[in-house]
Amino acid sequence: MTAERIDGKAFAAALRARVAERVPVFEAATGRVPGLAVVLVGEDAASQVYVRSKGKATREAGMVSFEHRLPDDTSQAELIALVEALGADDKVDGILVQLPLPPQIDEKAVIAAIDPAKDVDGFTLENAGRLAVGEAGLVPCTPLGCLMLLKDRLGDLAGLEAVVIGRSNIVGKPMAQLLLRESCTVTIAHSRTRDLPGVVRRADIVVAAVGRPEMVKGGWLKPGATVIDVGINRVEGRLVGDVDSASASAVAAAITPVPGGVGPMTIAILLRNTLVTAHARAGLEAPEGL
Ligand code: NDP
Repeated sequence: MTAERIDGKAFAAALRARVAERVPVFEAATGRVPGLAVVLVGEDAASQVYVRSKGKATREAGMVSFEHRLPDDTSQAELIALVEALGADDKVDGILVQLPLPPQIDEKAVIAAIDPAKDVDGFTLENAGRLAVGEAGLVPCTPLGCLMLLKDRLGDLAGLEAVVIGRSNIVGKPMAQLLLRESCTVTIAHSRTRDLPGVVRRADIVVAAVGRPEMVKGGWLKPGATVIDVGINRVEGRLVGDVDSASASAVAAAITPVPGGVGPMTIAILLRNTLVTAHARAGLEAPEGL
């Protein structure tokens, strides 16, 4: 079997186009376009690339991008003051603080300062809690993007065995919550899991969010599994995922490539979430079909 390639890039482009179509409708109703503020502290090379592409995508969707670049030695109080000012700014519908932050700044304190109504990354306790108890809220971009790809390919996910490898607050945990919401039987694996290959072999759906290059081997997979590779690892100048795509492709039914799979979805969902918060803040009904 050669696994089908799940084309996240094409799916993301279509989603971005649907978001862009709604922007003039929002503008006609409110007299302004949605705005996304992105805050970058320091010079981290990967973060610079992410912030640049987020700004570009925001403008391409017809929204306003507010970019704030702060020096590496910014204090926690200064960053929180900025985040609070963005919370109070009516033109700003979404606030994203690019992680990781320099060591003098406590990420949790900064996330706590984000207005939950503008929390387009879905990282605040308010939105994480809403996801955990099954209430509507803002969901982290990467796992929501993975879920969209899975539903597009598999339709109803109810009853499927899903194994999520990784338990971070930004990928693994919310991914598991989303799959549970879809009535999958969910296992969350992590660095202390015993017999990871044996656990993964049960899965109809595997989501790998580990940060270890090509760790998941084809021999671990149940034949016909659908594999979502969240990993972005730089190895000798090229990008590879957390799944060994060569061996996995021989066993899985479908797999996301790296690059061109989950990565483009993250940005598309960020724009989608910004459109959603803009509507909610303007008292308009959420746009459908997104
Ligand atoms: P974290 O480092 O926060 O979490 C990694 C998780 O993997 C932890 O829960 C850890 O377990 C687990 N883990 C580590 N080693 C093993 C192992 N040997 N076996 C099983 N589990 C293990 O990473 P993130 O969740 O932030 O990111 C994961 C990957 O996804 C990274 O490659 C990152 O670059 C990528 N990423 C991609 C995005 C995209 O847009 N495509 C967006 C965000 C992330 P434990 O908790 O026990 O330590």
